[in-house]
Amino acid sequence: MKPSAFEYHRPTTPEEAAELLTEFGDDAKLIAGGQSLMPMLNLRLAAFEHLIDIRGLTDLAGITHDSDSIVIGATTNQATVGLSTTVLESVPLLSRATPLIGHFPIRNRGTLGGSVAHADAAAEYPAVALTLDAELEALSSSGRRTIPASEFFTGMWTTALRDDEILTKVTFPVREGRCGFAINEFSRRKGDFAMAGACVAVKIDDSSRVESCSIGLFGLGSIPMRATSTERSLVGCSIDDLQVRDVGHAAVSDLESVPADLHGSAAYRTRVGATMVHAR
Ligand SMILES: Cc1cc2nc3c(=O)[nH]c(=O)nc-3n(C[C@H](O)[C@H](O)[C@H](O)COP(=O)(O)OP(=O)(O)OC[C@H]3O[C@@H](n4cnc5c(N)ncnc54)[C@H](O)[C@@H]3O)c2cc1C
Repeated sequence: MKPSAFEYHRPTTPEEAAELLTEFGDDAKLIAGGQSLMPMLNLRLAAFEHLIDIRGLTDLAGITHDSDSIVIGATTNQATVGLSTTVLESVPLLSRATPLIGHFPIRNRGTLGGSVAHADAAAEYPAVALTLDAELEALSSSGRRTIPASEFFTGMWTTALRDDEILTKVTFPVREGRCGFAINEFSRRKGDFAMAGACVAVKIDDSSRVESCSIGLFGLGSIPMRATSTERSLVGCSIDDLQVRDVGHAAVSDLESVPADLHGSAAYRTRVGATMVHAR
């Protein structure tokens, strides 16, 4: 199938893109890598009169290291994120998450910002952003604002971005000290979206006790979620005494409900989620 007819716009600055969004309102859609949007347009699950192509906006691409954070422009492609030594050294969870996204040709066109803005509940980058307390910058004709990841994901494929806003960059705090990071997911075939997944970031103090812990769960609801009460309960625990299996079960018990889908019942997907938290 082919998409319905649309007018193609190629702004040269983010501000121009924002003005086009304001001008065309609901009739317009941003396109970045096109890896999620184009299949939807081709299958006619969505149709827009105006497509605003932001992939060429170099102002929105690149990876920079601030004093205590890594800032990644929204149009930076996922392959670039995955190959970056800066990202590997400073935000290793993001480096580990990247190869789990689809396949290389998809990551070569798909962008970090597109993945976060698309907000698929089973996508890796939204879960990483939530787990690491990232901050997201939005630009519109009326200015810029910063949205914490904890307030960004509001529902299936829905975010706090307004229709007239562009996601410009994502800022990931760099965690210093004795930190460990892991991401695990289960999918039926390599490259498929995860049936259930978990990201964990842990900081250990000098006496080998948990100083802080973040557990992000994805594919287990309409948005990525943090297992906040389990996170809190782990602070101060000696890592030698931790029963990681119990941590996995506690983390999924923080979820209000896990939906069943054609891949499995709610009970099965909950068990898989628990295993993703504790499995090595
Ligand atoms: C076969 C296949 C397998 C895949 N597997 C996975 C997977 O396992 N995990 C995963 O996470 N993803 C997967 N994807 C999706 C892929 O990662 C996409 O690249 C990503 O979801 C969207 O990025 P994009 O740049 O292609 O965005 P696009 O498809 O161009 O846009 C997606 C949506 O985001 C909006 N958007 C894009 N950029 C911005 C911006 N800067 N500001 C505001 N809105 C914006 C668009 O308007 C659109 O609504 C898969 C895709 C395919 C085709």
